[in-house]
Amino acid sequence: MDYKMFLIKYAEIGTKGKNRYVFEDAMCKRMRSRLKSLGEFDVRREYGRIFVETFSEYDYDDVMEVLGSVFGIVGICPVVVVEDTSFNNISEAVVDYIDKEYSDKNFTFKVHARRNDKNYPKSSMEINSDLGAALLDKFSGLSVDVHNPDVMVNVEVRNVAYIYSKTIPGPGGLPVGTNGKGMVLLSGGIDSPVAAYMIAKRGVELEAVYFHAPPYTSERAKQKVVDLGKLVSKYAGVMKLHIINFTDVQLAIYDNCPHDELTIIMKRIMYKMAQEIALKEDCQCIITGESIGQVSSQTTQSLMVIDQAADKLPVFRPCIGMDKQEIIDISEKIGTYETSILPYEDCCTTFVAKHPVTRPKLDVIEKSEEALVGKIEELYQKAMETVEVVYCR
Ligand code: ATP
Ligand code: MG
Repeated sequence: MDYKMFLIKYAEIGTKGKNRYVFEDAMCKRMRSRLKSLGEFDVRREYGRIFVETFSEYDYDDVMEVLGSVFGIVGICPVVVVEDTSFNNISEAVVDYIDKEYSDKNFTFKVHARRNDKNYPKSSMEINSDLGAALLDKFSGLSVDVHNPDVMVNVEVRNVAYIYSKTIPGPGGLPVGTNGKGMVLLSGGIDSPVAAYMIAKRGVELEAVYFHAPPYTSERAKQKVVDLGKLVSKYAGVMKLHIINFTDVQLAIYDNCPHDELTIIMKRIMYKMAQEIALKEDCQCIITGESIGQVSSQTTQSLMVIDQAADKLPVFRPCIGMDKQEIIDISEKIGTYETSILPYEDCCTTFVAKHPVTRPKLDVIEKSEEALVGKIEELYQKAMETVEVVYCR
């Protein structure tokens, strides 16, 4: 069918009281910017709801993909618009709509009519029963179930009439930009893009930091992270990615610290650097893809010791209680999985010890870090001064 209109359903925003318009505006803005390249669309609020009207040819699947990536939307209803609102005309349009939209015509239905023109010759109840009768008359496999219908046929009569019955699920959440900003530690793995997605879903704007260690990590590994950033930006909006050249810092740790503590100490310095950039960029949180017990640096003891390194910002880890498979399921759903599994090295795996500590103690780690005093400050500074910025969009 050719749809000229989509009704956008949203849930949680509706609970926002006086601030509701802020959330609606953010959602509309995001929809406009994502739809721009697909044709001519008008996104507007009307009767306390949000509509997308189309004014040009468009690809239905592309539009669904785009709207399906705007946080805040819980459902998208393709709407048939009927200009001439005489009852006969609406009735024909409803029959035609059901005919085209449902190939298998064995289902129960209910007509749910609304009208705002009180002078319309039929009441809502009459529209319900007369349209129901027209459908029963035309399609013998249909029957009415007013309590639990398979198909709810919505008909709204205003200056034009709207007919819709299907809802394509949206991603839910809150529109990006309505809940501050966070700095995600984005690696080339499976978990951190999922973590980024989940926090963006709560309305948080994102920036990202990636620790690059050439020549131990390749240009292709870096490009993979940029690509993941782009995939996440479909949902999260433009993302400023800070690429830190981590090699010299990492070598200093390798040369001066016990090897079984390398990953912990490296992670602590990553957190420190990420926090520094996050504070400069007005972020209120750090986000990582860690999950309890997944690797030695993600035991509760390791996380506790690493967590102390970010002393000014909370670290959000939305994957913390998920099994790997659950994280993979989300990454497949959001389209990052195929890129994440490309086999390029990460700086965390290049310098990994054979038997890393799994129960580090903060005082022991801090003692080991003393060996870096006088050796790492300049390298740290240089890394922070030579950050490369890429905008992922
Ligand atoms: P992921 O799948 O996200 O790479 P992982 O299972 O490989 O995670 P780790 O390598 O221990 O686990 O990394 C834990 C978290 O630390 C990652 O989720 C990510 O947030 C961050 N991280 C790891 N390596 C980097 C890196 N090179 N640059 C930025 N962040 C990183
Ligand atoms: Mg990783």
